[in-house]
Formats: sequence, C-alpha cells, structure tokens
Amino acid sequence: MPTYQMDSVLTSGGWLRDVAVTVSEQGLIAGLAVGAEAAGATHITGTVVPGMPNAHSHAFQRAMAGDSEFRTGARDSFWTWRDAMYALANSVEPEDLELIATQLFVEMLKAGYTSVAEFHYLHRHSDGSAYPGPNALWQAIDAAAHTAGIALTLLPTLYLSSDFGARPLRREQQRFRLSVDEFLRAIAQRRSARSARSAHDGGSVHTGAALHSLRAVPLDSLREAVAGLRDIDPAGVIHIHIAEQLREVQACQGATGRRPIELLLDTGLVDPHWCLVHATHATAAEIAAVAASHASVCVCPSTEGNLGDGFFDAARLFTAGGRLCIGSDSQATVCPAEELRWLEYQQRLRRRRRAVLATNPEPHVGARLWRESARCGALALGQNIGTIEVGRRADWLVLDAAHPALAGASEDAVLDRLVFGGGQAALRDVVVAGRWVVKDRHHRDEDEVARRFASWMRRRSPRAY
Ligand code: ZN
Repeated sequence: MPTYQMDSVLTSGGWLRDVAVTVSEQGLIAGLAVGAEAAGATHITGTVVPGMPNAHSHAFQRAMAGDSEFRTGARDSFWTWRDAMYALANSVEPEDLELIATQLFVEMLKAGYTSVAEFHYLHRHSDGSAYPGPNALWQAIDAAAHTAGIALTLLPTLYLSSDFGARPLRREQQRFRLSVDEFLRAIAQRRSARSARSAHDGGSVHTGAALHSLRAVPLDSLREAVAGLRDIDPAGVIHIHIAEQLREVQACQGATGRRPIELLLDTGLVDPHWCLVHATHATAAEIAAVAASHASVCVCPSTEGNLGDGFFDAARLFTAGGRLCIGSDSQATVCPAEELRWLEYQQRLRRRRRAVLATNPEPHVGARLWRESARCGALALGQNIGTIEVGRRADWLVLDAAHPALAGASEDAVLDRLVFGGGQAALRDVVVAGRWVVKDRHHRDEDEVARRFASWMRRRSPRAY
C-alpha cells in the first residue's frame, strides 16, 4: 500500500504535521500516523487539505458559460436565460455531452473539486423518444467522470410538469420526461448494475436521485417517487431545486397557499439525506426548520449571482446549526474558492461587516467555509469523503505552501489565502481515491480534451441562441 509522508495536513481532528498516510488498494485511507517517518514513503511537501465535493452541477451547461451575457431586451432574467439553456439542452447528443462533461470535469479537478453531484434531467432524444437499452445520456456522464478521474454521484432527475398545477411539459421539455415508474426502475437497475464494481473504486461512483423542483414534480408524484426511492435505499440522497426565483415562490403560494420550503417540509419526507438546492428565498422560520431537519442546503453563489436570483441567508443557517455545501451549477464559474468567497461577500455586503461566517472558535473564514462545505458536501453526495481520516476515501489537494500566494501563512490562514487572496494559483496536485489525477497543475488528458472541446465549440457556431 502506498504511504505518503505529509508535512502538514488538515485532518478531521485539525491540523497535523509530519504525518504518514497509507492508502489502500480501494483508495481509502488505511492509516494515519503522526510523527512516524515511514520507510519508503513518498514525501509530500506543501499543505494537504480535503478535496471539495461539488454538490450541484448541470454538466451540459458548460457549453454556454459566458455565452448569454448580452442584453436581449429590457427584462432579461433567469427565465430568458432558461430559453437559451433549453436550446442547448435540445441540441446535445450523447457523444457531445460526454465531451462537454469531460472538459468540465477536468476543469473541476484542476480547481479543487474532487467529486461532483450531477443533477441530470436529460433522459431522452430531443423528440421525446427513449434511447434503446441503458440510458445513453447517463452513460455519457459516467464515461466523462471515468476519463477525467472525478468521483461522481449521478442524480437522475424526475421532471413531470412545466409548472404548478401539473401543467403539461412544453415541447422543449420533452427530453426531460420520465414517469415515476420509469424513473424508479432505471435507478434500481443502475444501482444493481454498479454495486458489484463499487468495492474496487472506493465507492467513487454513486447513484442518488433528484426531483427537479416543486413546479416540475406535483406533490402526489413526489410522495410516490420518494416512497419508491426509500424502498430502493432508505439512506439514498435526494436533491431538489427549491426556491431559486421569487416568481416560483409566488407561483407556489398562488397554487398551494404555501411557500415552497414550507410546502416541502410539511410533507414530513425531508430527512438528513436530502439536499435543498437554491433555498435562496427562505424566511427565517423556513431556515430554522431546514436546519432542524438536518437536510443540507446547497448554495451556488456564482450562478445565483449570474442569473440574478438573489442570495441565501447563510449566516442565519450557520447560527441555527444547519448544513451548507456548494455547487458550480451552471458552470459560469468552476472554482470552489470563488464560490466560498462570494458566499462570504454576500453576507458582508448585506450586513456591512467583515468575517461574518466565522465564529470565535473558528475565526478564519476561509478555513471554516472550506471545512464545512467539504464535510456537508460529502453528506449531500452520499460519499465517504469530506475529511481526511482513517476509513475515508483518499480525496485531497496539495497546496504549494511556498508559492507566493501562500508563503508565510499559518495553517488556517492558508485556506483564507486560497479563498480570498487568489491562492488558487498554488493548487498543485489533486488526488481522488488515491490516484494522482492532477500532478504539478497538469491533468494527463487536459490538452487532448481541450483541443477536442474547442473544435466542437467552433463547429457549433452560429449558436441556436
Ligand atoms: Zn440547478
């Protein structure tokens, strides 16, 4: 078993120096010995921190990042952006999706995301017909994650209606359709097909599930789907877009008399295995109730900013003891340090104070946010990651502590520098399940993948949007 001698490592018990870390063949941390100089160990200079789980991603949207930043009328909004996104969603074939996702996943690894929850609602041909056999669009995501070397939680997504009141899907949403039965059957089949392999890859491919939103999944179908998912796996992760847009909150109130988070919590179905994505428009009472449920909240500050959604009161959730993780969502930004920076800046701008998301016991904002997001992201992905300790998967980042961006910083301050001081440049190596997928800032396949992706992007012009 390979052993690594680390100068400095952020473990579940805090910072440790001169640590020998042994990794099993399955990519799990098998031993962690302080002060012992292990014979034959590979010496890691620098600072080792947990890799960041990316709790919310729509991979195909990478192909339009930075491409809808122009004015189309006086009322550009999330909803006008969504039309452009649908045009893209209806134009990608499985081989296109695999290429886009491979490029994206390489970018994620190089930025410090070591695992990703793919909230995946592309299920059919764009004319609404089904792919024969195993779902080719799901397999495209699997293949991309395998090529890039990122750990994956695939979240096949139920999408039944175009709005509250069980309104039928629009023509451009036909690709998203699966009945509750089809959804449950496909998830059960995928899980049983994969279970034999998981012992060999450190559990780096996992299958959860998502319900697109309350507007896309009527409550009776939601109850039926969750009951079926719980039969498949009582502890399976379930994600949902919950309250991203004010218009959606108002539509929910109009149709049901309740706000979306209230409505969901009132079902009694939400447990610690749920992840509420974009709980952006949450009242104080809703935030307290979400924290009490021990469900995670996933914030995506760069996408929420890009789409003009509004921002979530993360300080209130932290005070209530809630769980918070981050996602790259629309891929406008693929960088965990930037998501965490904007998470704190939102609070500073709102409260006109500094260091809002720190506490007296954990005064370093960057360190606290990195630790919390890694720990809660692991729960949201349903993977055995998030901290560096015996029994967890060996997913870690090596920061070059001698780099000008980090030089001279104390250990907790290294993460402040990473998040707030442009320290991303010092991210040197990335390890997933014990495999060195980025070495000296370079991913083995990045040049070839980037060349193919750029060629594909050029072929697509002029754009459909
Ligand atoms: Zn999303």
